[in-house]
Amino acid sequence: MSDCIFCKIISGDIQSVKVYEDAEFTAFLDINPVQPGHTLVVPKAHFARFDDTPSEVIAKLYQVVHKVAPAVAKAVDAEGFNASLNNGLAAGQEVFHTHVHIIPRYIKDGLVAWPRYMGENKLEQVGQKIRAALKEVVAK
Ligand code: 5GP
Ligand code: ZN
Repeated sequence: MSDCIFCKIISGDIQSVKVYEDAEFTAFLDINPVQPGHTLVVPKAHFARFDDTPSEVIAKLYQVVHKVAPAVAKAVDAEGFNASLNNGLAAGQEVFHTHVHIIPRYIKDGLVAWPRYMGENKLEQVGQKIRAALKEVVAK
């Protein structure tokens, strides 16, 4: 995709600090890191969002994350990491080329990732709706 920042990074038109590369995936440091070592793992093929990326690509993408994340953590002496993915504007996705963030974490880093929902949970109703939606998705 000609106007995609990550495609330009993959092609080398935009400079980045690459930490991993194979035939189908690459990983490079986030230009505006949450913590030093914050790494983005991307498929070389352009897919805008997680939900339009083929499942085989997602499976391989997470195999790369599984390999790269411990190395990131080791390199910056992290005590843990978040491996997360933003799907869609509402979820905070800014670059529409599927990618996984690897964010090094420390017990006392003070980052608060997820404030909890304060409304009524409705676990049973929501669970029933998700099971019904899954049947439709699987039937496709
Ligand atoms: P998103 O919000 O889409 O999940 O995350 C996009 C990430 O890409 C952000 O954390 C942002 O800092 C990073 N980013 C945006 N433009 C560039 C760039 O040109 N180079 C690099 N290395 N990272 C970028
Ligand atoms: Zn792209």
